[in-house]
Amino acid sequence: MRARRIASFYGLAALALSCTPGCSHRTGAVDHLPNESTLRYDLDVEPDRRRLRVRICSDGPLPARLVPGPGGEMRALVRARHRDAMGRLRPVSVASAAIVLSHPAAGGCLELHLDPGRAVSGNTAGIDRAVVIPGGVWLWRPAAYVPTHASVRVPIRRGAEARLSVPWTDGHGEWHRLGPTAFLLPSRTVVGSHRHLESTTSGTRIRIARLPGPMQATDAEIVSWITDATSCVARLARRPVARHLLVVVAPVRGSRDPVAFGHVTRGGPSVLLLVDERAGAAALRRDWVAVHELVHLLLPPVRRDDALLPEGIATYYQELLRARCGLISAQEGRAALAQGFERGRRAATGRTLGEESRDMYATGAFVRVYWAGAAIAALADRELRSAASTADPTRRAHAGPSPRSACRSLDDAIAAIAPEASRVTRAWTAWELADALDRRCGRRVMRPLLERWWSSSEFPPVPEPSEIVSSE
Ligand SMILES: [Zn+2]
Repeated sequence: MRARRIASFYGLAALALSCTPGCSHRTGAVDHLPNESTLRYDLDVEPDRRRLRVRICSDGPLPARLVPGPGGEMRALVRARHRDAMGRLRPVSVASAAIVLSHPAAGGCLELHLDPGRAVSGNTAGIDRAVVIPGGVWLWRPAAYVPTHASVRVPIRRGAEARLSVPWTDGHGEWHRLGPTAFLLPSRTVVGSHRHLESTTSGTRIRIARLPGPMQATDAEIVSWITDATSCVARLARRPVARHLLVVVAPVRGSRDPVAFGHVTRGGPSVLLLVDERAGAAALRRDWVAVHELVHLLLPPVRRDDALLPEGIATYYQELLRARCGLISAQEGRAALAQGFERGRRAATGRTLGEESRDMYATGAFVRVYWAGAAIAALADRELRSAASTADPTRRAHAGPSPRSACRSLDDAIAAIAPEASRVTRAWTAWELADALDRRCGRRVMRPLLERWWSSSEFPPVPEPSEIVSSE
């Protein structure tokens, strides 16, 4: 994304939290406990409608020390209280980087009161009465280990009351199941009076948190846009993009594009989309940002410095997939690729692509990095298609890829890695991603291309557009 879009994102970070009159709040004990869980997180909004509460409970001992989850901060903590299994209050101390329990073996629940305003900063332009906060603000975890699984209960509310939207997998009723990624990678949750829309497509249950604010697009049009984009990307994955997906749609004002910014998180699959309030259904349907962000969910998370490869793959497919799915015409897809490559080529600075990638967020060299990466993806795709064609001329007679050449195209490599991507718990390097794609194909294609172009200040020689936009 361009620097301007990044700035927009941070501007969104702090949204006023409130709850309309009549808001109800749960104070009851934990019930319907999923059998497999050891730690249970019971989330809610406090009666003052400004603070959040999480009760962290266990049938056995509690962790002796707890630290904030990814994106969470100590300063969000207002109060911590430990009530043991017998209902007695036990001392708790708050150290500089952890909550310390004096009697963890006494079990029971640790109750935390949190102020999301301390965890996020920015302004509330265009949006109010809802707040988007990292899941780590809630998900305090044991300092000594990462839970392999846990459960979160989120009250289901209908009507205009304070809602909580989370990206995690539905379990039992109000319970959601969490895996280790929730405790190791950033996630996104929404609190407030946003609207909750739902859709299911290609095996993915989509929850859309539509934040308050004017928008030309209706709820039905937003659902249709997100559903079509998700369905389109599932064609590349040949599987659901995710079992459950949270999409946060936030209206913004004055954007040059229908969608001003997109951002994906992996600690629970979610996509944030800042949508210009004037964007109508037709403009959203044609827009590339949602498809681009969803393609990221098919890849493992990659280090920020190594954006060249993952952003390149997502950029390449944002055009290919929209054309394949009929969101734009094939001719428009070819033109978009050609124009993008040309913009990337012209954005030369004399620095190597590796340097551009590493410093992209400081220099703003997004166009150069994204489109040089897309060129590398296009070269890999062409090489795989060419090799498969040469090695196995009878491939058209087979339903699947030939045994000798596991990939007929980059599509096959992406589809092969997608099931693993959702389970990865740390950011990979671009080199790890290249090697993993090559392993799926049984041949070294991406790694040599990445090595060749990472240290080059030239723009890769892209294939002719007619060579690129091809069928699945
Ligand atoms: Zn991207």
